[in-house]
Amino acid sequence: MTPVQMTCRTLVELVTDYLEGALPDDERARLETHLATCDGCTRYLAQIRETIRLTGELTEALIEPEARDALRGVYRAWLDD
Ligand SMILES: [Zn+2]
Repeated sequence: MTPVQMTCRTLVELVTDYLEGALPDDERARLETHLATCDGCTRYLAQIRETIRLTGELTEALIEPEARDALRGVYRAWLDD
């Protein structure tokens, strides 16, 4: 069985759980495997971590709207699948 490749869309949906340590081990492993091969998601995760560092909160709602829009632009091509 070939493991199912996690998509960028799924990573975005799971990233807060990942950062909270709330993902099951198998999901976390898939997410980290995807990160190792995807520059877009690596940048996305870095952006989220920076936001958390600045705000002290792990809440997507606290990400500046402009930053969210920029991230959507980065992902647009991939999210069309
Ligand atoms: Zn990705």
